Amino acid sequence: MRIVLMGAPGSGKGTQAQRLVTQFGIPQISTGDILRKHRKEGTELGKRADAIMARGLLVDDATMLDIIRDRVAQPDAQRGFILDGFPRTQTQAEALTQLMKDLGTPLDAVVLFDVGDAELVRRISGRRTCSLCNKVFNIHTAPPGSPATDCVPDSTEHQLFQRKDDEEATVAERLRVYARQTQPVLSYYSDAGLLRTVRAEGTLPEITQRLLDVLSANPLKPAASIAVQKKRKPKRRVAAKKKAVGARKSVRRKAKAAKRRPVARKAAKKRAAPRKVARKTKRAARPVRRKSKRR
Ligand code: AMP
Repeated sequence: MRIVLMGAPGSGKGTQAQRLVTQFGIPQISTGDILRKHRKEGTELGKRADAIMARGLLVDDATMLDIIRDRVAQPDAQRGFILDGFPRTQTQAEALTQLMKDLGTPLDAVVLFDVGDAELVRRISGRRTCSLCNKVFNIHTAPPGSPATDCVPDSTEHQLFQRKDDEEATVAERLRVYARQTQPVLSYYSDAGLLRTVRAEGTLPEITQRLLDVLSANPLKPAASIAVQKKRKPKRRVAAKKKAVGARKSVRRKAKAAKRRPVARKAAKKRAAPRKVARKTKRAARPVRRKSKRR
């Protein structure tokens, strides 16, 4: 299964992606996590991305595409994946379609997490990440258990920290960037028939259930990926063109035959030009005017 999760920052994509990993046994590919890892390791890319991320802006498309191309080629992603945070621009979405086409593995669904603005702000301000196991919690809606049973071995408590880009000023910019650059991508997927929307407010299990419901609904429909649809269209056009050419040829053949056989001309003309015949028939069917009595 190849799924894309979309939604504003704080819509809960990451948390639900982690739940789908357990459910389907396929990896979550979070481009934000990949960039943060680079930043932590101090790689060239990490250093470049650091300033951009701190301002709430987007890393350039070419870099993001290189990251995705590498990641989906890994052995653990061969059975499928959950994309979280990619694509974020129209260019990224189109490049992903092409990549999936090249690999012969179309996307199955794109799910939009729909959350109101007030709830988004509340969630982002409460979001905390564990520096040991990388799990994401929310001090308002999904606090970690204490003692922690799901952290790294030997740790009984999560070490929570707030991401720099979750601070208020950066959050406002990230929401603006989402509206300007990412939201338009939704109509691209909606046009392709891949987009499903989940109301992402409520308890975590409720949202997970809604997510599983939309993913299992009508499983054949999402297989009609953008790549497959694009392939089919020209075929239909070619078939329609052949039909039209065939029809024109047959009309011409009938008219020619009528010329060769003068006796049959009238009948052949009738067959070759059915519209004319129809008009004639109509005229013939008109009531005959009564002659005036005064004459
Ligand atoms: P996230 O954890 O998904 O909210 O991503 C954190 C930050 O990483 C974003 O605000 C961007 O600066 C950067 N980032 C993540 N994914 C992408 C992407 N697909 N395109 C561009 N920048 C991205």
